Amino acid sequence: MTLALRDTLSGEQRPFEPLEAGHVRIYSCGPTVYGPTHIGNFRSFLFADILVRYLRYSGLRVTWVMNITDVDDRIIANAAAAGTTIAELSDRWLAQFKTDFAAVRMTPPDVLPRATEHIEAMTALIQTLLDRDNAYRTEDGSVFFRISSWPAYGRLARLDPDQLKVGERVEADDYGKDDVRDFALWKAAKPGEPSWDTSIGAGRPGWHIECSAMSMRHLGPSFDIHTGGIDLIFPHHEDEIAQSEAATGETFVRTWLHCDHLRLGGTKMARRVGNIARVADLLADGVSPRALRYALIRVHYRQALEYTEDTLVEAGAAIERLDAVVAALAGYAEDRPDDPELDSILAAARQGFEAALDDDLNVSKALASIFELVREANRRIADRRLSTTDAGRILDLLRDLDRVLAVLPEAEEALPEGAGALLEARVAARAARDWAAADRLRDELASLGVAVEDTRDGQRWRRLEPVS
Ligand SMILES: [Zn+2]
Repeated sequence: MTLALRDTLSGEQRPFEPLEAGHVRIYSCGPTVYGPTHIGNFRSFLFADILVRYLRYSGLRVTWVMNITDVDDRIIANAAAAGTTIAELSDRWLAQFKTDFAAVRMTPPDVLPRATEHIEAMTALIQTLLDRDNAYRTEDGSVFFRISSWPAYGRLARLDPDQLKVGERVEADDYGKDDVRDFALWKAAKPGEPSWDTSIGAGRPGWHIECSAMSMRHLGPSFDIHTGGIDLIFPHHEDEIAQSEAATGETFVRTWLHCDHLRLGGTKMARRVGNIARVADLLADGVSPRALRYALIRVHYRQALEYTEDTLVEAGAAIERLDAVVAALAGYAEDRPDDPELDSILAAARQGFEAALDDDLNVSKALASIFELVREANRRIADRRLSTTDAGRILDLLRDLDRVLAVLPEAEEALPEGAGALLEARVAARAARDWAAADRLRDELASLGVAVEDTRDGQRWRRLEPVS
């Protein structure tokens, strides 16, 4: 393994070695299911997806955990406004999240733990922090983490602990803290709010403790990689480190990876700003899910992704180029000797692809290697320089590298219902020199989203990619 990752905590790019040989444990902060997940969130999830896929491509076993926040202030407020329960509201948006991530081909995480199903793990962790005097109870029964008990606080976000400002999430129930910097681990029960009767009292968990409790429950007290958007560095991940390490005495996470924002109109995409785009809406507008995926993965995760009107158009064009070469290679037949240059072209493509991803997951560079291979392939197809076997080898390599990118058409999604019969009928019509019928069948296929082209190898087809 020659993968090197840039760890936010140390600020260094370092060779990656899993704690347990051959097995990588990854935790990603997941969605809060109070509404639809927007594509800014998906950019962060898909960068973790690329990481997981690349580790698996490299032969490693991966356990990927992504939490589902199904109790928080916004869920409570939205459920009350809709006259429903937090369980019903979060079930609905969790189902939508699963539909969305399947559409953009995100690898399903191995575990999607829900906060409300891990209350006991959280209270056990809070009890440990109380026992160790890293936490204290306030008069109303809430529990806060004592930041003064944790000198390393602020390292991840590079803050001066003495000058810490209070985070955004200051709430009315924060009164009674010893220190304004301290954060809530447990919020005492309040009328009209959901709460749990537990060994540490009645109430509900704070957001930060959820991720510490669930990551450690599913991955152990110390694990390899924790991912999230850069907006989670402070206070969320800073708090996760403090409460986890104070409780266990072990290094919580070995490598922290943070994905930069997706910006729309120069501003970070966020629900409160109102500049959001949702996966389901975009797909309903006719955007190809593969083009959307391509658009969200193509920029290196540590760079901001500027999302403009052209973003999906460019991604759709890239997908069309890939589809065209896949169709051309699949349909290629030429009885001639193998191309003597092909071995080195294939080796260079794989080597370039892997070297780019080994360099802190540089996806844009990896895509450049793919398109260099596509150019070589197209040139050779046009010149009829490949043997049938050569074409198959190029296609095999593209498919193999696509285990990481997941943007090529899948065999089973290749043809829409009914198109196969039309294609066969058109072959017969052309053989019978019935050009009128062949043209009519071409139009019928186009209405199904299949473009047909007549080439030396016979009829060749590809899927038309709708782009909004
Ligand atoms: Zn989290």
